[in-house]
Amino acid sequence: MTDDAPRVTVAGVSKTYDGDEGPVRALADVAFDVHDGEFVCIVGPSGCGKTTLFRIIGGLERATGGEVLLSGEPVTGPSPDLGIVFQEYHLFPWRTVRGNVGFGLEQAGLDRERRRERVDEMLELVGLEGSGDTYPSRLSGGMKQRVALARALAVDPELLLMDEPFGSVDAQTRARLHGELLDVWAETGKTVLFVTHDVEEAVKLADRIVVMSPAPGTVREVVDVDLPRPRDRTDPAFAEYQERVLSLIRD
Ligand code: ADP
Ligand code: MG
Repeated sequence: MTDDAPRVTVAGVSKTYDGDEGPVRALADVAFDVHDGEFVCIVGPSGCGKTTLFRIIGGLERATGGEVLLSGEPVTGPSPDLGIVFQEYHLFPWRTVRGNVGFGLEQAGLDRERRRERVDEMLELVGLEGSGDTYPSRLSGGMKQRVALARALAVDPELLLMDEPFGSVDAQTRARLHGELLDVWAETGKTVLFVTHDVEEAVKLADRIVVMSPAPGTVREVVDVDLPRPRDRTDPAFAEYQERVLSLIRD
């Protein structure tokens, strides 16, 4: 591990799928860095390769060109240094909230007592203290995604990787989850890489926004969002960022 390497380096990543009707070019020469403690959003239209890039960074899919480095080390498969939150929760329905949050800790071989402590800590962090013994089917979408976030954070990963995590919850819940995620980020100092097609969400959350073009996805521009937090979407400066990112996507 190299100390001064960026937390994430995406170095000329390309991906072509073997589709049923011939090759599908999903990503073309995508490159950017994410530094320690940063909150970076990847934004782009549906089908531009965001999930593909997310899966390649997460070690769940292989690039056909280029590579991804985590703290200077090439990604070769899923890594315990990564906390992953998918769009569709991916909770274990047969496990309680506690069982879900503790899953990675079991894998890591923590004993029951230490697991219990860590799970309590995580449930408190995401405001689910009272729901530990509940099964996922009884939870709202917002609560499920809090469980997924707690599960991802439980193993204390270096990087939190999220793919449209709040895409399936209502606008009010989403706004609340944004606030909570930013609080968790501030409290834990984690590096966050957050994928979304929603420009407003990206401007709300990110230190920097990686703006992608339509398919095959390339990086149009990386935009620094220089706005104090908490951010107010009725602020004219907020609207200016939104407009700028939208026009980058449209061009
Ligand atoms: P996004 O997340 O930005 O909507 P995706 O990464 O899901 O985009 O998809 C990018 C492109 O790659 C799309 O054209 C999609 O149809 C194609 N694609 C994604 N996964 C596969 C796959 N397993 N096989 C073939 N084509 C795929
Ligand atoms: Mg996607």
